Amino acid sequence: MNHVTVRIKQNFEHVRQRIEAAATRSDRDPRAITLVAVTKYVSHELVLPLIDAGCRDFGESRPQQLWEKAAFVQQRGITDVRWHLIGHLQRNKIAKTIPWVHMIQSIDSDRLLTALELEISDAVPASLAPLPVLLEVNISREAAKHGWSAEQMPQAVSHLPTLHHVQPVGLMAMASVVGGEAQARLDFRRLRELRDQLLPVCPPGVVLAELSMGMSGDYEVAIEEGATIVRIGSSLFEGVT
Ligand SMILES: *Cc1c(COP(=O)(O)O)cnc(C)c1O
Repeated sequence: MNHVTVRIKQNFEHVRQRIEAAATRSDRDPRAITLVAVTKYVSHELVLPLIDAGCRDFGESRPQQLWEKAAFVQQRGITDVRWHLIGHLQRNKIAKTIPWVHMIQSIDSDRLLTALELEISDAVPASLAPLPVLLEVNISREAAKHGWSAEQMPQAVSHLPTLHHVQPVGLMAMASVVGGEAQARLDFRRLRELRDQLLPVCPPGVVLAELSMGMSGDYEVAIEEGATIVRIGSSLFEGVT
């Protein structure tokens, strides 16, 4: 094994242990937290040491990067890896994205939901399980971020289009850029409380059990505040990129 491979595996193990510790001290089952390894900073080959180390969930922000890395992994004969799209999806990229993606975490409009529903109903047999998606909330109210504002969410959720091929399963958000850990904790807590407030207005069958929140700088805080999915990039590639 070369130095890069060794370092990535060490980083992964270190992150896994910190996730476990954060879960344990907040009385949560570590197995209820999914680590999505964000590979947007690195080339295809550097996905492989993570797979070797036991990682199965991967995230990319750009659809095209996701298609390419997913195809690369599949060409290696590895078929049990799940790809999560975590960045903005343009409607003209839906069709090419569907075959590769396990979950879309970055649904930021009901137009996108409707377009996704239509494309999937055209493309795949009706018997297939619906595609899980997360609704993206701009919890920090930053202009550069996508997603609904917290204030828009009750209306957005109660008016979700009728969906058969797409299944909203939770919320996704990023913490404020400024304010450090204390602000991140407030943001994550607001997302969890928002989810709890939305439950009574969700259409039948929509539960929003998943909270995707927490990145390299704040994932332990996110777990303490109830994250079920953390999306981690830089910490996994420390000393490598
Ligand atoms: C890049 C990215 C991440 C990972 O960020 P790190 O700070 O490198 O861990 C997580 N979520 C989203 C939406 C991203 O774009």
